[in-house]
Amino acid sequence: MALEKTQRLTIEKALPEGRVFFDPEKYPDYNRDATELIYYPDALFFAESENDIVAAVKMCRDLDLPLIVRGAGTGYSGGALAIHGGLLVSVERLNAIAIDSKKKATVVGPGAITGDIMKAAEAVGLFYPPDPASYEESTIGGNLAENAGGLRCKKYGVTKDYVLAVRGVNSRGDIVEIDHLSPYGLVDLMIGSEGTLFIFTEITLRLIGLPQPGKTIQATFGRAVDAASVVAEVTAAGIIPCIMEFMDGDAIACSNQYDPENRIEGGAAMLLFETDGINAEDEAEAIMSVCKTHSPLMLRTTDEPKEREILWKTRRNLSNAVKNTAKIKTSEDVCVPPSKLPQLVAFVEELGRDLSLRVNCYGHAGDGNLHVNLLGKTGSDRESKETAEGINRLFKKTLALGGTLSGEHGIGITKKDYLHHEFDKATIRFMRRLEKCLDSDGILNPGKIFR
Ligand SMILES: Cc1cc2nc3c(=O)[nH]c(=O)nc-3n(C[C@H](O)[C@H](O)[C@H](O)COP(=O)(O)OP(=O)(O)OC[C@H]3O[C@@H](n4cnc5c(N)ncnc54)[C@H](O)[C@@H]3O)c2cc1C
Repeated sequence: MALEKTQRLTIEKALPEGRVFFDPEKYPDYNRDATELIYYPDALFFAESENDIVAAVKMCRDLDLPLIVRGAGTGYSGGALAIHGGLLVSVERLNAIAIDSKKKATVVGPGAITGDIMKAAEAVGLFYPPDPASYEESTIGGNLAENAGGLRCKKYGVTKDYVLAVRGVNSRGDIVEIDHLSPYGLVDLMIGSEGTLFIFTEITLRLIGLPQPGKTIQATFGRAVDAASVVAEVTAAGIIPCIMEFMDGDAIACSNQYDPENRIEGGAAMLLFETDGINAEDEAEAIMSVCKTHSPLMLRTTDEPKEREILWKTRRNLSNAVKNTAKIKTSEDVCVPPSKLPQLVAFVEELGRDLSLRVNCYGHAGDGNLHVNLLGKTGSDRESKETAEGINRLFKKTLALGGTLSGEHGIGITKKDYLHHEFDKATIRFMRRLEKCLDSDGILNPGKIFR
């Protein structure tokens, strides 16, 4: 939707000079996110204060123009894309981080990079646990908007478990301050709202003491389903390592191709565990015992920091490593109860046999969260059809196993057509009414979550 001349003049008048751009094609990074889909906003604005955001919201209301907030654009569901044009507001410059050691809390701007928050906390002996694999790039505002999970979520929980209070701007342009004790559980309601209800401008996070480091365990198996069974059994035994990650043989091959200097022997699947805290040694022993009952090809532990870092880097690189091996990568982040992981992994293998696409998977197995990738060589119509068929089958299987369509990446635009598979009409209507109630003019990130 091209802007009318009067609209452009209104934008120029309402927002600070030098920070609004009407030629978004000159800023390619802002027209896409990790989905690699491309949408151009009508204008791009770099906010530097909460007042900037208030002004932007009020102006968009007056002009009936969509407003899309953007953190770092690492989202996997298209949440930060300007699918209907409008004003794209980058909050990356609102990146202050203030640690209060006494209160074990930190007050941060929405554009603060997750990894910078972790580092600032660690510098004073404190710990911010939620660690999406994208933590070196993603912003905390984006983490709240998607309720990001991470490798450590098995033991430490996800983003919402650390949010004490938020301040932000609603769709009317009012500044609203709420904390975790506010009626209606308002903070929780805003978390995971994908930029459709509220724009976070200041976030107070809970920090905890740094845990004692423990052991990293690497176990490889000749059959992927054995690795998945270990996950189910470790969980059933009540062992809670801080990390329990799964990756299948094809994902490991992608990693080896991506980073040949740090090749790892993976077999048909690999599990990576990390234990920490005072029970770290005992937990590591218990995990090794479960692994041994599934005839691992290799089973070892390490507490050598350099070696551990290589293993974790490998895991964190996986998304890009897999992307590098295909022309088209469609990635889903389904989640099932950990006891059902063996069935899900077996189903992913079945998909790979049935489709001409390459199919692989990896993920935060401790949570039953599996990133399933359908990889095309050409992007042909046939591949697109097979991808759609594969996703449909995957979602049906996930729901039949008692799971959910999105463990952590959100619904955005990529999953909205499938929402009705998981929720019935009355439930979707209820969510829509809530959205309408909080954003009656549909200004904030329209077209996301719902069709
Ligand atoms: C390599 C890689 C690994 C990843 N690993 C993980 C992982 O382990 N766990 C995980 O959960 N995700 C993961 N992701 C997905 C992604 O990093 C997360 O969803 C992250 O939370 C997005 O943050 P962002 O700053 O990039 O947000 P963006 O992509 O910019 O935006 C995402 C959504 O948040 C909204 N938003 C952004 N800022 C605000 C704000 N201030 N107020 C309101 N709404 C806002 C946007 O409108 C959009 O809807 C990964 C992505 C990549 C590329």
